[in-house]
Amino acid sequence: MSNSHTHPTRGLMMMVVAPSGVGKTSLTRRLVSDHPDLHLSISATTREPRAGEHEGRDYHFVSHDQFDQMVEDNAFLEWAEVHGNKYGSPRAPIEEALSRGESVLFDIDDQGAFQVCEQARADCVMVYILPPSIAEMNRRLHTRSTDSDETIRRRIARAKTEITNWQAFDYVLLNDDFDRAYSDLAHVYHAERLKRSRGVWIGDFVQSLLDEPLP
Ligand code: 5GP
Repeated sequence: MSNSHTHPTRGLMMMVVAPSGVGKTSLTRRLVSDHPDLHLSISATTREPRAGEHEGRDYHFVSHDQFDQMVEDNAFLEWAEVHGNKYGSPRAPIEEALSRGESVLFDIDDQGAFQVCEQARADCVMVYILPPSIAEMNRRLHTRSTDSDETIRRRIARAKTEITNWQAFDYVLLNDDFDRAYSDLAHVYHAERLKRSRGVWIGDFVQSLLDEPLP
């Protein structure tokens, strides 16, 4: 937020969770590009890059050995195995952003979100995005598809299990219309930044109001 230097705010970790094919990547990329104080956590993964994906922008693509070494070095805030590949959130850039009072957006799965938020509930916001229908999810997955029919079926089966955890999230949004879903997501971020508990500036500012003499 533009006033974060004059009015310091405690950064937050925003978890955005959704099954594949719900449009989560487009929503989160736009939120980050519209908010310079919000940084996307770039995960490391052992998965092969898809067409159009770039090292360092979409993921850090690493070997299984490199990944295991990072786990051993405690270099991940959380990590999980999803669809047979490993994914993890590198700790250092997250801690650096938070120490500057800025925020971090995590485009991760539910297991990772729960892991992080169990440790730091007060600094966490958990958002879940629902698809308008399973049929639409299936259509989107086939349209983008670099994945086999079998992989898509597995992703949808996993989504159906994941969706049953909707009550564990702070916000549940519906992506039936991209612009509306984006607006909802941006409102969640703005309101969370304004929470009293994150307003590091408020106590001193209120004191300065109290110290001002009566006119
Ligand atoms: P995809 O292979 O489609 O890019 O991602 C598969 C799943 O892994 C998605 O649900 C995605 O959000 C999740 N994911 C990506 N990065 C991470 C991470 O660092 N940690 C965890 N726990 N999940 C991740």
